[in-house]
Amino acid sequence: MDLKTPVQFLKGVGPARAKIFEQLAVYTVSDLLEYFPRDWQFAPDAVKIAQIEAGKIFTVIGMLESMDFHSYRKPAMLEVSIADDTAELRIVWFHGGFLQKQLKPGQIITASGKVDLYKHQLQMTNPKFSILESQLEKNNQLSGGIYPACKQLSSGQIKRIIASILDEVDGLVDEFYDKKFLRKNDLVGRKEAFKWIHTPKDEEELARAKRRLKYDELFLMQLGLALRRYKSQHFSAAIAMRCDEKIDSRIRKRFPFLLTECQDNVIGEIVSDMQKSQPMNRLLQGDVGSGKTVVALYAALLAVAAKTQVAIMAPTEILAAQHFTSMERYLKNSSVKRVLLTGGLAGKKRKELLQKIKSGEINIVVGTVALLQKDIKFAKLGLVVIDEQHKFGVHQRAELRKKTTPHCLVMTATPIPRTLAMTAFGDLDISIIKHSPPGRGKIITRWVDKEHLQKAYDFVRQRLKARKQAYFVYPRIYSSCVERDALCEKENTQYAIRNTRYDEIKAATSEWKYLSKKVFPEFNVVLLHGKMPSQEKQQIMADFHKGKIDVLVSTVVIEVGVDVPNATIMVIEEADRFGLAQLHQLRGRIGRGEDKSYCFLFAEPNNETAENRLDVMTRSNDGFEIADYDLRLRGPGELFSARQHGLPDLKIANIIDDYALLLMSRKNAFKMVDCDPMLKDDAHKNIRRELIAKFGDSLGLAGIA
Ligand code: ADP
Ligand code: MG
Repeated sequence: MDLKTPVQFLKGVGPARAKIFEQLAVYTVSDLLEYFPRDWQFAPDAVKIAQIEAGKIFTVIGMLESMDFHSYRKPAMLEVSIADDTAELRIVWFHGGFLQKQLKPGQIITASGKVDLYKHQLQMTNPKFSILESQLEKNNQLSGGIYPACKQLSSGQIKRIIASILDEVDGLVDEFYDKKFLRKNDLVGRKEAFKWIHTPKDEEELARAKRRLKYDELFLMQLGLALRRYKSQHFSAAIAMRCDEKIDSRIRKRFPFLLTECQDNVIGEIVSDMQKSQPMNRLLQGDVGSGKTVVALYAALLAVAAKTQVAIMAPTEILAAQHFTSMERYLKNSSVKRVLLTGGLAGKKRKELLQKIKSGEINIVVGTVALLQKDIKFAKLGLVVIDEQHKFGVHQRAELRKKTTPHCLVMTATPIPRTLAMTAFGDLDISIIKHSPPGRGKIITRWVDKEHLQKAYDFVRQRLKARKQAYFVYPRIYSSCVERDALCEKENTQYAIRNTRYDEIKAATSEWKYLSKKVFPEFNVVLLHGKMPSQEKQQIMADFHKGKIDVLVSTVVIEVGVDVPNATIMVIEEADRFGLAQLHQLRGRIGRGEDKSYCFLFAEPNNETAENRLDVMTRSNDGFEIADYDLRLRGPGELFSARQHGLPDLKIANIIDDYALLLMSRKNAFKMVDCDPMLKDDAHKNIRRELIAKFGDSLGLAGIA
């Protein structure tokens, strides 16, 4: 038997049970060893019946001698008597009638429970029990793991099957580290850890086993990341770009303001990357409005100065167009040739443009991720900038890297919690713009319940009178209630539409009518949503920008790319229906000018999680703090899934709760790859083997072995 042996060949399994194990994602001995209990229980070691005394919990083993069900008693009770070679013991289960089916005289049972004195006799009441196959079965069935089970396979059955391979753990499992390392880091041996996690003697053994196995799991993940990073740095070459004072000052002249200290630091990191012949692989994080575009443009102009081309990609056409426009602001009268490549472009024009890109005539191409399409060839692509806004397309990035080896800068406005930065994004370098450019007004956030709606409306009206602008945001375009939407369509409806306000989720279309007619009739209130023709949308945005519109009623379409400093009020209705990250993104639309801004969250949440979310929003305006909190509320599962990062899922460790172990494993893994990048050292052979077994081809490690 080895780790790869199919479970089918184990004692007590066979083909039928192997099929059931498949449903639990258990195929091999290795999977079975890592099929960890979901909980553990501890019964004391079994003692002879003669040794027990009143007032404590004991475990005993004996033969069931007699059994009586007293159905007339209140409560009804099952009374049995068991005996070992020292004494007899009375056991009572209240309401125990159902146990009559399982228990029979002559059986050997082990029972664990509190012993009391009843009518001067010792008696065990309501113990946990298990039926043993023989008196010799010393294995204490009442202790140990409780496994995630399924209908056809109980926890007890799984436990027995796993117990049968635990005797062979010594031959199956290899130690990764030497004794010195284990001692220094307070880790138990790997063999012990596997035995103890399934059959711990006590809490202490369990804790030590968990610590070791969690460490190993995190360590292997970090080692995978370290190797992936090493490979991308050493197995591909990029163009090393020169940056001197002349180039630097020429680029800076393009900006009508001084760069902030944060921007300067980040640019320093990027420049130092781009000067190397190893491809840059950097993630740039910064809240909306923190000034990432400027940083990206700096990098782009540096690449152009090095006579290479730049591709700048955004998730949507609208965002790509916005990038292009904001870049144009800085590039007036520049000789840099830049184009916006849209999906609408076709036929001859497109062909001509592609030809110019191919010949190297064009320096900067802005577009969507469609720029990755095969028919687009660059003469000399030096830098790729991906603005992911708040979607991370790790796989697309990998795709890109396969084709070329330009320097790569990924930008995101979603702060990534530190735990994820070290795991899902653990092979990237990370730069952070922590503070926005100066001169931004404070944002005050309030959570408003329905009693105070009117007050909030009054406040908004005052600000509008002072010529400020406002956003009203709704979770959907149309109401979920068709009937009500139809009522709203009719001008002179008799029905009291407003009475149903809280019965369903409010939607932008119907609320727009309400706001424009009833609440703010004296102001210009305009509706904007994603289903409108794109030209109309753009017109509305332009009017809002010019101040022709006072109130913009919309869905999350305004979440991205709107920059109107005079808009200082945001009302988010049904705020509990938005995620934390989304709320924070939305709020980033205000607070862009020098004046104080106000964000009102209208919500009557019906659960604690939603309440907590709103609470955090009113307390904090720090994207990183919010992201950390979000991760804790949602748990890491959702964000940390294999789909996102191509790493194996974690079975026992948890990147939030085991943060300290994560830090330690990361440090050690990166150190190991530094010293022995191919894990060729004999001391690392067990780790290498495990890594290949775990990651397979996903890391391309097979070549290393
Ligand atoms: P992001 O892309 O991170 O959302 P932008 O780069 O679009 O942010 O910048 C937001 C706004 O701040 C823009 O109007 C930009 O002109 C301005 N800005 C950027 N950097 C600075 C700076 N150093 N000083 C003053 N204003 C700046
Ligand atoms: Mg931006």
